[in-house]
Amino acid sequence: MQLNFSSLKSLLSVPKKIVLTSHTNPDGDAVGASLAMFLFLKNQGHKVKVILPNAFPEYLGWMEGSDQINLYEKDKAACDELFASADILFSLDYNHPNRIGDAEQSFVQSKAVKILIDHHVQPKIDAYNHVFSTVETSSTSELVFDCITALSPDAMTTPIAECIYTGIMTDTGSFSYACNNEKTFRIVADLYKAGINGVKINRLVYNTFSESRLRLLGYALSEKLRVLPEYATAYIYLTTEELNRFNYQVGDTEDVVNYALSIKGVRFAAMFIERDKKIRVSLRSVGDFKVNTIAREYFEGGGHKNAAGGDSFLTMEKTLEKFEHILPKYKKELTEK
Ligand code: 5GP
Ligand code: MN
Repeated sequence: MQLNFSSLKSLLSVPKKIVLTSHTNPDGDAVGASLAMFLFLKNQGHKVKVILPNAFPEYLGWMEGSDQINLYEKDKAACDELFASADILFSLDYNHPNRIGDAEQSFVQSKAVKILIDHHVQPKIDAYNHVFSTVETSSTSELVFDCITALSPDAMTTPIAECIYTGIMTDTGSFSYACNNEKTFRIVADLYKAGINGVKINRLVYNTFSESRLRLLGYALSEKLRVLPEYATAYIYLTTEELNRFNYQVGDTEDVVNYALSIKGVRFAAMFIERDKKIRVSLRSVGDFKVNTIAREYFEGGGHKNAAGGDSFLTMEKTLEKFEHILPKYKKELTEK
């Protein structure tokens, strides 16, 4: 669904109070898309705030504007005020207001014009006045690039380009999936033209592990990985006690699930992380196996064909049992050539 850029342009032709939001457990695309829009709209003379439901990983803290992000879980009253007084609300990188946790009610009740920019399937379009949603796009940050260039061709700056690059890079696993097309790389070339240093950004995001994060990864791979070759499946599971042992910080388990998918022959990978009295489920696949269907059907979640997530409210043991029970149903799909 293509945004009507001329109506958005006229909406933004006078200074507005704008609130940008993204999903719970914000990742590189969520933060990158939000901050790119934040910097752009601020430069255009608007009063802009970013509200994220909860904390983002430290390795994204170098991005310009990241120190001005409001966290809903930390300051509900101030955020509610911002929602209530906003002229325009943006939903970036999520497809349904229920993906912003406790902030959902204030978002829904706000009288502001609501705009969705996202790349997930099944967007809840009736919650929005304007929708810019495609599922073929690498990342929401790529859609934000399209949006900014359509609204104001000369508005790209190095800090904006850095945020967009971070979103594309992290949502494609450093350009290894969801970007098998010319357009993404043309956009990346434009970001280089705007002054980014992609090598530096890669290092800032991926090579700034704490020692305990690296040891947690080592432990997860050596002790907590189960491989089920008969289902072309592998999974990793970690309890709160184990996370604490390795001084867990937000973001420390990000991307760990992809290691399970890197085993030859494995088409379906899962990770189960016990946090905040529930089990966070991350699912990944290669090829046609749709993990968003599994996330929706069994774990109250959703996502993309090859990357999805959800929650389990059972114990770890019961969750793993449930997961292993699901597999026989998909054996043919997972193992046929
Ligand atoms: P992750 O495994 O990195 O937490 O999530 C992978 C992808 O699945 C995310 O980019 C997001 O699109 C989607 N996703 C994760 N958790 C949920 C959830 O609880 N609900 C929905 N609808 N999508 C999710
Ligand atoms: Mn995304």
